[in-house]
Amino acid sequence: MTDPRSRLDTTKLLAARYRAANDRPYLASALYALTVVPSPDVPTMGVDRHWRCYVSPAFVDATPVEELAGVWIHEVAHLLRDHHGRAGRLPAADQRDRYRVNVAQDCEINDDLLADGLRLPAGRVEPRLFGLPDGQLFEAYLPRLPPHVREHDCGSGAHGRPAPWDLPGSAGPAALGDVEAQALRRLTAEAMRAHQRTRGTLPAGWQRWAEELLEPTVDWRQALSGAVREAAAWAAGAVDYTYRRPSRRTPALRGVVLPSLRRPLPRVAVVVDTSGSMGDAELAAALGEITGVLREVGVRGNRVTVLACDADVHAVSRVTSTEQVTLGGGGGTDMRVGIDAALAARDRPSIVIVLTDGLTPWPDEVPSCRLIAALIGDGAPQPPHWVETVRVTI
Ligand SMILES: [Zn+2]
Repeated sequence: MTDPRSRLDTTKLLAARYRAANDRPYLASALYALTVVPSPDVPTMGVDRHWRCYVSPAFVDATPVEELAGVWIHEVAHLLRDHHGRAGRLPAADQRDRYRVNVAQDCEINDDLLADGLRLPAGRVEPRLFGLPDGQLFEAYLPRLPPHVREHDCGSGAHGRPAPWDLPGSAGPAALGDVEAQALRRLTAEAMRAHQRTRGTLPAGWQRWAEELLEPTVDWRQALSGAVREAAAWAAGAVDYTYRRPSRRTPALRGVVLPSLRRPLPRVAVVVDTSGSMGDAELAAALGEITGVLREVGVRGNRVTVLACDADVHAVSRVTSTEQVTLGGGGGTDMRVGIDAALAARDRPSIVIVLTDGLTPWPDEVPSCRLIAALIGDGAPQPPHWVETVRVTI
């Protein structure tokens, strides 16, 4: 005889999914991509990374359809928001307690669902239970949670650790692959945008999520250090990029490894625009990032020259430490003077990095060095296409 606990009320469960998809049509594709797996071992409902949704028959029996609809949306939110992928990028020590990670993730999801008027079962987690504000990502909630939270498990598709009820591998019934999952996220984000355009409403949390998914903001520190690292590898002869300048939109090339130290280390000139509208904080942050990366790859001491390009007198001065760079007033800067001065040095640099607000003419020809522009401030105009560009905004 079958265990009565394993008899799943499929009609009720699917009625709840229909209701969820009907009420929030932009989530329909994602909701219908989930495969139901009945399991007496899962406490309520949980997902794995292959978009299989494990369901406790007893939980379905005990929960009204309206709340079950909310739980469907809750579970699919873990997968749309790639919680398991993001959990895997937490520091190892933070990954260990799956329950804390899960509770932080539920905080990220549930504040939006409740603000959206959805009903969730009693005992749900939300930020205010811990005195925390709404509207944050789980990575922000996690360190602010109490050290011990109650056991709460939405499955390996949430916290990323294997769950006892998980079906083995990705080959099981209707397992979704990573590529399909990412396509589904995109499709959902586009459906959200269309919904917002035609109906004018979308919960703020989903709005932020869709924006970030469709137009990710590149972290400037990563982009800048990637560009510097890659140029250093190129200049040391490790990579033949003669015919292929990386596109300006290429994200950080973190994986580039410098060759052995028998190869000559490159010389680098940093030309700082001390005129106009750059903020001290942004300049210091960009300089700090550059000198940090150069130190890491072994380019230091007299191999790095910092030149301050003064706007008013068009003079260039060599400074021995980045702290000596002071910003002047005025505008009308010409960074070509700084670049020329850098290239005229006896120890000619193979990489020139220009920190500027972008209100400057650029050389007419491609110079015989790698030229990276760190553009500071929101309004900086775009340099010619052959200048590698990283936009620094704080
Ligand atoms: Zn959850």
